[in-house]
Amino acid sequence: MYNPKSNSILQQLTGLFRSFQPCQLCHADTQHWHQVCEDCWKSLPWQRQTIKRQGLQIMTPCRYDYPLDRIIQQYKYQQQLQFQPLLSGLLCSLKQPKKVQAIVPMPISTERLEERGFNQSLLIAQDLAKHLDVPIWQPVTRLKQRAQKGLSRLERMSDIQQQFQLTPPNAVRYRNVLIVDDVVTTGSSIQALHNCLIELGCQQVHVTCLAVAEI
Ligand SMILES: [Zn+2]
Repeated sequence: MYNPKSNSILQQLTGLFRSFQPCQLCHADTQHWHQVCEDCWKSLPWQRQTIKRQGLQIMTPCRYDYPLDRIIQQYKYQQQLQFQPLLSGLLCSLKQPKKVQAIVPMPISTERLEERGFNQSLLIAQDLAKHLDVPIWQPVTRLKQRAQKGLSRLERMSDIQQQFQLTPPNAVRYRNVLIVDDVVTTGSSIQALHNCLIELGCQQVHVTCLAVAEI
């Protein structure tokens, strides 16, 4: 199984055991890559490139298309947490930037957290942090997301920026960081978080997400 860090005997045995488990997606073949079979892994909407949103470079493994869109929706809204190894595996399969000192997951508001029970970006980010052997850093909180209907593009941008607040103490602890988000559409929340991190004193802010949707 693909996992450069699975070298302990226990991990090897766990990997061997998993390889006899049915694929999380088709349930027909056995698990090969991150709990899915080889065919299902190959049939994901791969993109594996850097795309641009709001002037920022975002590394992404996939497009937000079938079947990944359904998988992410079930994971986020129906607590189908069995998909977490697959989703984290997508990010771990990407070539990550060098010398990243910490991972910054996209924050969600307290209201969203209560409603959903977990922050999906934080869970994925924790797996990536483990893979890269760096800490999670959460220096920014997010206020309640308001309905943006009827606002102009500029009003929307400033509204989103105001949702992101620096958490005191406002001192930079890491200069080279990687933002992790689940799905990026317009990129405006990524830009708002990016601006906060630059304001804090970060010098290099990389961005990665599970999938990018067409605008
Ligand atoms: Zn399968």
